[in-house]
Amino acid sequence: MKIIMLGAPGAGKGTQAIKISEKYGIPHISTGDIFRANIKAGTELGRKAKEYMDQGLLVPDALTTDLVVNRTSEPDCENGYVLDGFPRTIPQAECLTEALEKRGEKVDFALNVDVPDENIIRRMSGRRVCPKCGATYHVVYAAPEKEGVCDRCGGELIIRDDDLPETVKKRLDVYHEQTQPLIDYYENEGCLVNVDGTKSLDEVFTAITEILGD
Ligand code: AMP
Repeated sequence: MKIIMLGAPGAGKGTQAIKISEKYGIPHISTGDIFRANIKAGTELGRKAKEYMDQGLLVPDALTTDLVVNRTSEPDCENGYVLDGFPRTIPQAECLTEALEKRGEKVDFALNVDVPDENIIRRMSGRRVCPKCGATYHVVYAAPEKEGVCDRCGGELIIRDDDLPETVKKRLDVYHEQTQPLIDYYENEGCLVNVDGTKSLDEVFTAITEILGD
């Protein structure tokens, strides 16, 4: 099962993607996580990506598309995967469609987690991440057991640079301009499904499993 998560930054698609990955036993491929891992490891890709990420801009397609296309051809992707944060532009989507066509494959579901901008801004200001293990929390909706401390590894939680208020605004502008057109793109491809992302985490996940089946 090949799944794409669509939705604004902060719509909760990352959290849902992890739950999908666990339930269906398919890898969760997050471009944001790949870039952050590269930044942490001090790679050339990380250095280049950080310049854009810190400004709320998209990393250029040339640095992104091959990375994902190659990742989806690894052996653990044989039974499918859930792509989180990719594609984010029409050219990225076209490259993915083309790469899949060459392998005789296609995207099965493009899940659009729909949340209005006002809710997004409220949510993102409360988001915290663990720089050690990558776990994400929210001070209101998914608080860790102990404030400021990661439940999973005990790391100290931080606010990501790209969750700072000015950057959030910029990321939403970029989303509307460059990523929202993907909703029409996948509608035309016949695999778009809309999910109401304003509901609780569990309710959204239940809606998703009803779509994906058992
Ligand atoms: P995310 O964790 O998915 O919200 O991604 C964090 C940041 O990584 C984004 O704001 C972009 O700067 C960059 N990024 C992630 N995925 C992509 C992509 N598919 N294309 C371009 N930039 C991306």
